[in-house]
Amino acid sequence: MGRIDLHSHTTASDGSLTPEELVRLAKQQGVVTLAVTDHDTISGLPQAIAEGERAGVEIIPGIEISCLYGTTELHILGYFINPDDPHLAPALITYQASREERNPRIVERLRELGCELTYAEIKEAAGSATVGRPHIAQALVRRGYVNNVSEAFDRYLADGAPAYIPRLLPSPGEAIGLIRKIGGIPVLAHPVYTSRLQEPFEQVCATLKGLGLLGIEAIYSSHSRQQTDRYRSISKNQGLLVTGGSDFHGETKPNLLVGTGYGNLSVPSDLLEPMRALAAGRR
Ligand code: AMP
Ligand code: ZN
Ligand code: FE
Ligand code: FE
Repeated sequence: MGRIDLHSHTTASDGSLTPEELVRLAKQQGVVTLAVTDHDTISGLPQAIAEGERAGVEIIPGIEISCLYGTTELHILGYFINPDDPHLAPALITYQASREERNPRIVERLRELGCELTYAEIKEAAGSATVGRPHIAQALVRRGYVNNVSEAFDRYLADGAPAYIPRLLPSPGEAIGLIRKIGGIPVLAHPVYTSRLQEPFEQVCATLKGLGLLGIEAIYSSHSRQQTDRYRSISKNQGLLVTGGSDFHGETKPNLLVGTGYGNLSVPSDLLEPMRALAAGRR
């Protein structure tokens, strides 16, 4: 049986490959089922689905929505969503607006910190994509202020760094509720990044489950074996689905490949059956 990957990004948000390029690379990598989960946008899905049909890769329509849990940002993945649901577009317009409000302020702060760059050049390089911090990071690399994207986050853009500007985000209840309303399965992305939360992870899961969460991305590129085991057992104890994915972004996240992550990612395809059953039940 081929491999699966339930977390990937394209040029529709902050990935570096077009949807078609992503699907062709996934095919080469032996991926038979791929979820395309761009940040706050579904604009890459039609091309991904069409290329999937040509290449023989099943595409699960997905999205990744940022939300705020207390003061910490969490990402919620949505699987098997209906991109045409009328509830989706107005919400995405709101998320987009919060980015448009934030991005120029980040650039302004960077200029105060001595980095000469303009929002216009970032927009131009991003084309029609949802502009995110990775695009700003790439501009800092191009201008020679940092050596790579990761250094740009550490020195300037990460939460707590000098050019970090929060943006208005939906609550977890809103993000989870939206995904369910559009027929999707909401799943907590990369749980390892919740380590900044004061609350025990089990409690966070229980709260999110109370809001309608259905799964946890226990299998993830940067999870250690121990972390994966721990998140799997918490999922099981709380009656949540286990999912897994690479969070492939192309050149935006160097050395991370679709399907295999940093080399030894392996997402079992038998995770799909319970997801499909739940999704079918929600239609
Ligand atoms: P934004 O959506 O504008 O808030 O940017 C968030 C994106 O930045 C995430 O999808 C990550 O892919 C990326 N990101 C966040 N932190 C880092 C980091 N420390 N190094 C590289 N990329 C990061
Ligand atoms: Zn991203
Ligand atoms: Fe994420
Ligand atoms: Fe992601």
